[in-house]
Amino acid sequence: MPVSGRPAGEVTGLCRYLPGVTRGLAENGLLEVIPDRAPRWLGRPTDKPRLRQVGERLNAEHDARLRLTGDDFCRLGDIAYERDGRDEPELVRLRDLAAEMGVHLVWSNVHVHLAESVPDKGAAVLQMAAELGLDPRAIVTIGDAPNDAGLFVGGRFGATVGTADIAGQCSTCPRPCIHHPGPRGRRLRRDGRGRPRGRGRRGVRAPTREKSPVRETRRWLRRSQAFAARSTERGSAATIRGDLAAFVLCRGA
Ligand SMILES: [Mg+2]
Repeated sequence: MPVSGRPAGEVTGLCRYLPGVTRGLAENGLLEVIPDRAPRWLGRPTDKPRLRQVGERLNAEHDARLRLTGDDFCRLGDIAYERDGRDEPELVRLRDLAAEMGVHLVWSNVHVHLAESVPDKGAAVLQMAAELGLDPRAIVTIGDAPNDAGLFVGGRFGATVGTADIAGQCSTCPRPCIHHPGPRGRRLRRDGRGRPRGRGRRGVRAPTREKSPVRETRRWLRRSQAFAARSTERGSAATIRGDLAAFVLCRGA
């Protein structure tokens, strides 16, 4: 399921055309979209003109040079600007200035967003899971930027994957997130398959354990990692590129 910073209109297109995808969360978790239904607000509806005013003030008073995204016309609640290659110190400067004006600024690898409350994609996923009767421990989340921080919060989901893009950005995430470089001693072989599990030194199978959502999720994740490893040159979870990780997620959904 896509959980995106992209506009509701764009995510609706993903849901309609990606195989196996029937719903999505758009605009950093503000809206749920399902094709042929009106988008549903999960967060409080925003005041776009007010947010845009803050962007204009940042430009006029602080030389922010923010450019509205071309997809602004189909954003229902979010205001987004092109990131235009801004580095983190500049983004942190803009974030602090926006905070003084009572607005939250967060960024992805392509856009800079203004929001009335801290965007939380994870809270939106938890709400959806509760409504659909899904166990959050059976959910794997994948993200690549600080606007995905709500997906990285420890204890929310069965497993979380951050792509290589996020490794150096954890300190600027709006929420504390857990960062683990990956399992030690279980490097994938060249063919992408993990070391056999559940066997002792002499090939004796370990006693079968009872199934649990957490173990099932981890098993699924290992299979996804192996799939990704076969599809990339580098081949470990920490170096999956964002688009490929999203593809793996869709395959498993
Ligand atoms: Mg992203």
